[in-house]
Amino acid sequence: MSTLLEVSGVSVSFDGFKAINNLSFRIGAAELRAIIGPNGAGKTTFMDIVTGKTKPDEGRVIWGEKSQSLIGLSEARIARAGIGRKFQKPTVFEDQTVRENLLMALSNNRSPFKVLFYRPAKADLERVGELAEEIGLSDQLGRKSGELSHGQKQWLEIGMLLAQEPRLLLVDEPAAGMTPAEREHTTALLVEAARTRAVVVVEHDMEFVRRLDCRVTVLHEGSVLAEGSLGHVTSNQEVIDVYLGR
Ligand code: ADP
Ligand code: MG
Repeated sequence: MSTLLEVSGVSVSFDGFKAINNLSFRIGAAELRAIIGPNGAGKTTFMDIVTGKTKPDEGRVIWGEKSQSLIGLSEARIARAGIGRKFQKPTVFEDQTVRENLLMALSNNRSPFKVLFYRPAKADLERVGELAEEIGLSDQLGRKSGELSHGQKQWLEIGMLLAQEPRLLLVDEPAAGMTPAEREHTTALLVEAARTRAVVVVEHDMEFVRRLDCRVTVLHEGSVLAEGSLGHVTSNQEVIDVYLGR
């Protein structure tokens, strides 16, 4: 599998504490990858580094066929290069409908104000229909986003990220606060999204990770402790000691 993102020898310290410590790993071009590890292992900081929010002290972050260095690029440039990130708290526009939110995401260079007076092209509406289908909100398009359940808002936000056609989607703890049924729908959605792009999911819920059925990277103290199938990493004694055995 060709490499889409390579992190190599990356370290970052906060006030002398090494949150990421010589971290190296690769993500393939259409790969689904789960990242697990104890609290404070550096999972969110890894995403902060890839998206340009945090600048590493050392190491390389290499992107795409042209092996572009992402270090030093602004968050906006990295997003434009094709990296989308979903935060835990959804950031949908609650007063707007699902359709309006998706349209806005399709044309993310337009301001929300302009979108109110903007007549969408037929192609945009078709694309919104496809996205709604993909996230399971086809029957909610006319609904105010503020009325959606927590899980539905999360899916809408994933749809808004997919509208921008990222080549890599980073998702931090999507299952938090979801019902079991919502979790199941979320795994299906992420598995589907990873058929055409790379998706990296940080998640604590082992049942969720099991259903993703993908390669798993275990982080501990800012480095990779183990990597492989879920069965492989969960039978690793060090992983049991630092994470599972707690
Ligand atoms: P995880 O997501 O795996 O739980 P984090 O990446 O959030 O872990 O945090 C790793 C460590 O780095 C933690 O000890 C955290 O307190 C620290 N840390 C993360 N971001 C900052 C920051 N901006 N300033 C200071 N310390 C930070
Ligand atoms: Mg975190």
